[in-house]
Amino acid sequence: MIDPETIQRIKDAVRIEEVVGEFVSLKKRGSNYIACCPFHNEKTPSFVVTPAKNIYKCFGCGKAGDGVRFLMEHEHYSYQEALRYLAKKYNIDIVEGEQTPEQRQKQNERDVLYHVSEFAQKYFADLLYNDEMGRAVGLNYFHGRGMTDEIIKRFGLGYCLDEWRGFTDYARKNGYSDEVLKTSGLTVFTDEGKVYDRFRGRVTFPIFSTSGRVMGFSCRILTKDKDKAKYVNSPDSPIYDKSNTLYGLYQARQAIAKADKCYLVEGNVDVVSMHQSGVENTVASCGTSLTVGQIRLIRRYTKNVTVVYDGDKAGVKATIRATDLLFEEGMHVRMVMFPDDDDPDSYAQKHGSTMLQEYLRDHEENIVLYQLRVMQDDVKNDPIRKAEMLKDIVKTIALVPDLLERSEYVKICASRFGMSEQTLQRELANALYLKAQKEFKASQDKNGQPAVAEPPLSQEDAAAPASAVSAPEQVAVPTVSPQTAALYNMFPDELQENKIIRLLINNGNQVIKQTVKVEGGKTEEHAEYVAAVIVGDIYNDGLTFDNPIYQTIFNAYAQKLQQGTLLDSQFFVDNPDEQIRSTALEMMVEPYTVSDQWEKLHHVSVQHPENHVAEDVENALNIFKLRKIDHKMNDLAQQFKAAGQDEKVLEALLQEKMALLAAKKELCAQIHCVYN
Ligand SMILES: [Zn+2]
Repeated sequence: MIDPETIQRIKDAVRIEEVVGEFVSLKKRGSNYIACCPFHNEKTPSFVVTPAKNIYKCFGCGKAGDGVRFLMEHEHYSYQEALRYLAKKYNIDIVEGEQTPEQRQKQNERDVLYHVSEFAQKYFADLLYNDEMGRAVGLNYFHGRGMTDEIIKRFGLGYCLDEWRGFTDYARKNGYSDEVLKTSGLTVFTDEGKVYDRFRGRVTFPIFSTSGRVMGFSCRILTKDKDKAKYVNSPDSPIYDKSNTLYGLYQARQAIAKADKCYLVEGNVDVVSMHQSGVENTVASCGTSLTVGQIRLIRRYTKNVTVVYDGDKAGVKATIRATDLLFEEGMHVRMVMFPDDDDPDSYAQKHGSTMLQEYLRDHEENIVLYQLRVMQDDVKNDPIRKAEMLKDIVKTIALVPDLLERSEYVKICASRFGMSEQTLQRELANALYLKAQKEFKASQDKNGQPAVAEPPLSQEDAAAPASAVSAPEQVAVPTVSPQTAALYNMFPDELQENKIIRLLINNGNQVIKQTVKVEGGKTEEHAEYVAAVIVGDIYNDGLTFDNPIYQTIFNAYAQKLQQGTLLDSQFFVDNPDEQIRSTALEMMVEPYTVSDQWEKLHHVSVQHPENHVAEDVENALNIFKLRKIDHKMNDLAQQFKAAGQDEKVLEALLQEKMALLAAKKELCAQIHCVYN
């Protein structure tokens, strides 16, 4: 683990244009660089790199951050991996953080486990080519399946000889202890004292972490022995957690990100076969049924999953469970079903790569509609089965995030099963209610923490000691849901609120002179930080922001000020919330984008902030308050209507209105404008 001081030295050394420039061709534009965004498809550049602030920002898709973030997004590195990459690039020696003896022991244990796994992988791969049996059995099998040597090497495939202790003896001779061989699962030690190679007589598929280290194996038997399992997998270990691993992800991740789509197949052989056929955005959940952890791994690269099913009609129920889980994690799910008794591998062998690609393209379908069709065949005239099935399908429909899509499914479902739409809508409403309740409960259980925790950035990080520096500092701020953020453009006070936040972010740590009224009508000048002036003023008046992202940013400043410090812009550069990072960094890159509009709309001359920060802050605050007063006036108008003839109430309202008008007049006088 890298200690905080080294992290700072790395970040200080980074020059954003050099880091991004390695992956993107940048053009100089003024003091900035521009390019077509590497994160979304575009023809005219909206991706801006700003050396002065050491950040990048895309005005098309909103991606933004510093050099570390860029590597995490573009190369899918973990935080630690990105730092190590940059340390190497800028020749910075990494000083490992202080570790307790316990942590050091754990780290050593993990290192040894990685070593022995890599040692085993090399050993098995060597046997495949350089041993007579390895060639005759293992290599023959892979070649027989149409796999090229190139793909065999890419996936690190190998063969474990059908001897009791071939590998174990070799590993012992090379200094690996029985303890390590046991924990890694490579060797089995039975209670009766038997010792043997777990994977003997099998072809070996190493399982890689997302950064390319061998963590375990999944091995297939080649004989048709019914007493033996077709696949044997490594048991979970300190470096390998099945439920958070996908087979093939290391080899597939860039293709998944590029295609913005991931094929999910059932077995290892299918993964290798798909890659061999040019469909490289393919992974499999190996040794488990699909888990939430695995889905979140995929979600780091794409939200679009196409589930590929073998043609053996493995129960619709199982299909529905996987689908529900995917929907629940907010994925867009489609599916491909292979013809009877075929899987991607057998299909590719029979018909070739091109046909496989065509099949995948032509047979992709909507998974909900597919389920409806299968059910229709399945239930026919059995009313009890039909009722059960409908409950299941309605539960699935309730998980579809899009409202229009949901109501479309209800229509189709109603017509297919000859039911009234209203009945189905009622069922759906019920399912939606249950779902909302479940989500609410889940969020309560976590003490106000967001209900969905992001996956650790890599297996290595996941198993790392908790005290290690593994993520940027995170100030607890309320999270903004995408739905709320989608309302972003609908806030009428956007411009006023935007201006305040821009000042906080760009000028918050500047000092300005404030004129303050003191006793006897005199005034005094005080020097104060812009952030303190803004936060203090808005807090005193008890005002809030309509835009939740702005409110969150404002809260972050307020929180820091309460602690007696100023918020550093690094807070935004590192912020794990994409909405906040993007909003703030956009303001940092182009601080004046709304100025023109602002002036036209409000007949207020906005001074150049660097020369007239004090004036600018005052104006912005006053206009912000004016808008809030207008809101209160509108509320009052409603209350006047509602009050009817009640004189007491009318009197109170009138007084309130007079007070607001007076405040408004004063504010208007201060900003030297007629504000209607
Ligand atoms: Zn973009």
